[in-house]
Amino acid sequence: MQIENRSGEPVVPKLKCPVCEGSVDIPDDALEGELFEHQECGAQLELVIENGQLVLKLAEEVAEDWGE
Ligand SMILES: [Zn+2]
Repeated sequence: MQIENRSGEPVVPKLKCPVCEGSVDIPDDALEGELFEHQECGAQLELVIENGQLVLKLAEEVAEDWGE
Protein backbone atom coordinates (compact mmCIF):
# COMPACT_ATOMS: atom_id res chain seq x y z
CA MET A 1 0.00 0.00 0.00
CA GLN A 2 1.35 3.31 -1.04
CA ILE A 3 0.70 6.64 0.50
CA GLU A 4 1.04 9.63 -1.72
CA ASN A 5 1.71 13.05 -0.46
CA ARG A 6 -0.68 15.31 -2.25
CA SER A 7 -0.52 18.23 0.09
CA GLY A 8 0.37 20.48 -2.80
CA GLU A 9 3.23 22.10 -1.01
CA PRO A 10 5.60 23.87 -3.31
CA VAL A 11 8.58 21.73 -3.98
CA VAL A 12 11.88 23.39 -4.46
CA PRO A 13 13.60 21.18 -6.95
CA LYS A 14 17.08 20.01 -6.26
CA LEU A 15 18.99 21.55 -9.07
CA LYS A 16 21.94 19.73 -10.40
CA CYS A 17 25.05 21.11 -11.91
CA PRO A 18 25.26 19.90 -15.52
CA VAL A 19 29.01 19.96 -15.33
CA CYS A 20 29.87 18.06 -12.17
CA GLU A 21 26.40 16.81 -11.24
CA GLY A 22 26.72 18.25 -7.78
CA SER A 23 23.78 19.97 -6.19
CA VAL A 24 23.49 23.71 -6.52
CA ASP A 25 21.86 26.01 -4.03
CA ILE A 26 19.33 28.22 -5.70
CA PRO A 27 17.47 30.83 -3.69
CA ASP A 28 13.69 30.71 -3.71
CA ASP A 29 13.42 34.02 -5.44
CA ALA A 30 15.78 33.16 -8.24
CA LEU A 31 14.65 34.36 -11.63
CA GLU A 32 14.87 32.78 -15.01
CA GLY A 33 18.01 33.83 -16.74
CA GLU A 34 19.91 34.41 -13.54
CA LEU A 35 23.47 33.27 -13.49
CA PHE A 36 25.03 31.28 -10.73
CA GLU A 37 28.52 30.14 -10.21
CA HIS A 38 28.83 26.65 -8.91
CA GLN A 39 31.45 26.93 -6.28
CA GLU A 40 32.41 23.29 -6.40
CA CYS A 41 33.51 23.32 -10.00
CA GLY A 42 33.49 27.00 -10.90
CA ALA A 43 31.00 26.56 -13.75
CA GLN A 44 28.82 29.46 -14.76
CA LEU A 45 25.25 28.22 -14.74
CA GLU A 46 22.15 29.85 -16.09
CA LEU A 47 18.75 29.23 -14.61
CA VAL A 48 16.24 28.42 -17.31
CA ILE A 49 12.70 27.12 -17.36
CA GLU A 50 12.07 24.00 -19.36
CA ASN A 51 8.66 22.37 -19.45
CA GLY A 52 7.66 24.39 -16.43
CA GLN A 53 10.61 23.27 -14.41
CA LEU A 54 13.67 25.09 -13.33
CA VAL A 55 16.83 23.63 -14.69
CA LEU A 56 20.41 24.73 -14.79
CA LYS A 57 22.36 24.99 -17.97
CA LEU A 58 25.92 25.83 -18.58
CA ALA A 59 25.98 29.49 -19.40
CA GLU A 60 27.67 30.47 -22.56
CA GLU A 61 30.67 32.50 -21.81
CA VAL A 62 30.45 36.04 -22.89
CA ALA A 63 32.81 36.18 -25.76
CA GLU A 64 35.09 39.05 -25.18
CA ASP A 65 36.97 39.85 -28.30
CA TRP A 66 40.39 40.95 -27.25
CA GLY A 67 41.45 41.45 -30.82
CA GLU A 68 43.85 38.63 -31.16
ZN1 LIG B 1 29.42 22.02 -10.75
